[in-house]
Amino acid sequence: MGRVLAGAAKRIGGMTADMNVVSIMAHQDDEMRCLGTMLKCRARGDRLFFVAVTDGSAGVLRQPPLPREEAAAIRSGELSALAGRLGAETLCLGERDEFLYDTPELRLRLIEAIRRTGAELIFTHYADDYNLDHTTTHALVKHCALLASLPLLPGQWPPLKSHPAVFCVQPHGPIPFPATHFVDITALEAQKIELLKNHSSQEQAMQLAVGAGFDKLCNRPDAFWGEQALCEYAEAFVPMQARGAIKPYPVLP
Ligand SMILES: [Zn+2]
Repeated sequence: MGRVLAGAAKRIGGMTADMNVVSIMAHQDDEMRCLGTMLKCRARGDRLFFVAVTDGSAGVLRQPPLPREEAAAIRSGELSALAGRLGAETLCLGERDEFLYDTPELRLRLIEAIRRTGAELIFTHYADDYNLDHTTTHALVKHCALLASLPLLPGQWPPLKSHPAVFCVQPHGPIPFPATHFVDITALEAQKIELLKNHSSQEQAMQLAVGAGFDKLCNRPDAFWGEQALCEYAEAFVPMQARGAIKPYPVLP
């Protein structure tokens, strides 16, 4: 990635288009709760980016266990394969999977990553979730999206021209999620699942762990939200409760 893309969003007939759309998730494959919406963004002309904060190295089930570097290479390769199919770019920040901590060094690197993508719309985890890497990522995005748009911390990339819109995805597990925004992804559900199967290590791990692959793990919640939104399949979101993250104009496709 060689250029800053900030500030390219246009509002056409009251709708936003031509945006830099960034998934910032703890792990490679966590984009499963927003990928359909990102495909819809791409169809309206937006550019897509995938940022994974950890290296995903704890998610590869092998006997004997793989060295961390090998497992991390598999996970980043799978995300790159998915992104490559979409002409999207990936950034893996390489933190240790399942041991994610909010550190000064990581904050600075995430601020740089957000600035580098020119983020205008971010999808990230919800504030509550079953996995501490997820909730730590939520907190990091809340703080770093703000700082990425302010000139307080200089870096290689210039500050964003404005605070990006931020939407939180449905958490995994029995966590109350007060969804307020729904995107009809009926026409994209099959493509979303097919793309997610690039994460073949995760398809295998989830079949072993919970007896379900990406098909069930997406179809069930997407059908549930679709029923709320009167369509077959939908993804559901809540805006991040943060200064500047909520926009007074439509952002989602
Ligand atoms: Zn995860």
